[in-house]
Amino acid sequence: MFKIDEYLSLLRSEKLKRAVRIQSEIIHHSRNFLKQKGFIEILPVIISPITDPLTDYRIRGEIECYGFKYQITKSMIFHKQISLLSVPRIFSFSPNVRIEPASRERSGRHLIEFVQLDIEMKEAGRDEIMQLGEGLLAHIVENIKANCEPDLEFFHRDLKIPEQPFKKISYQEALRRYGTDYEIELSKRAAEPIWILDFPIEGREFYDREYSDQSGILVDMDLIYPEGYGEALSGGEREYQYEKIKKRIEMKEIGLKAYEIYLKFAEKGLFPSAGFGIGIERLTRYICGLSHIEETRMFAKLPGVLGL
Ligand code: ASP
Ligand code: MG
Repeated sequence: MFKIDEYLSLLRSEKLKRAVRIQSEIIHHSRNFLKQKGFIEILPVIISPITDPLTDYRIRGEIECYGFKYQITKSMIFHKQISLLSVPRIFSFSPNVRIEPASRERSGRHLIEFVQLDIEMKEAGRDEIMQLGEGLLAHIVENIKANCEPDLEFFHRDLKIPEQPFKKISYQEALRRYGTDYEIELSKRAAEPIWILDFPIEGREFYDREYSDQSGILVDMDLIYPEGYGEALSGGEREYQYEKIKKRIEMKEIGLKAYEIYLKFAEKGLFPSAGFGIGIERLTRYICGLSHIEETRMFAKLPGVLGL
């Protein structure tokens, strides 16, 4: 059932109006920052024969036309890598569809359709892409503070420009200190954004690069917002060599057939690269200090709820 009255009251609320105004500024300042750093904005991809497997290998959202099968994009990861064959630094505001379990309806952090600012940089290492992420977040906060003061006051939000470099903790250490809920525990305790590094191969996707001298550990990272807002972004260095990609896909027990087209590109030669994807709605939630993610955008779609 579509709840029209709830919808109308949200649409007319001061909260949503101000959140989307801040969101528009976030998008504007992200673009400015990345363009200054020599990045080119590419248009997003919504359907493709290849998309991010994520932890759910089932195909969700298939469109058949002309006898071909397209999937709705869960992320633009492979398109990011392939774009680097043309230009060396790219970004895109990419719509992603991820059918989360209905139990996540009230997590405050999950939408089944969201937009991520997807960034990829040719021949970059993890340190370089982390520095870019830190600079981007600091630039956004600085400009929102300067340009959206009345909105931040409305939200009673006293934001600090995060100090660079951000703190770092390894996945192993985070797990040892905080247990399996390390992400949320770390986020609750943190006063500044913090990086989690070096995830184990089992829990992540096949495209994050494995250390050449540490088997089973990936050269990747997540950034965690402070004050309990949870994950901000995921990223890392990429596997780009055909044989390694093939091995990684096989380890996940996904049929190679599903990634046939991507593997053809890898066979012809992909560049080494690093990148990340940062969710715009979660970023808006953090900047505004909101508890519910559905208040961060127009037409939010919560898991298990009919959205517009
Ligand atoms: N593909 C990742 C994600 O969607 C982001 C990245 O690694 O660039 O979580
Ligand atoms: Mg992630």
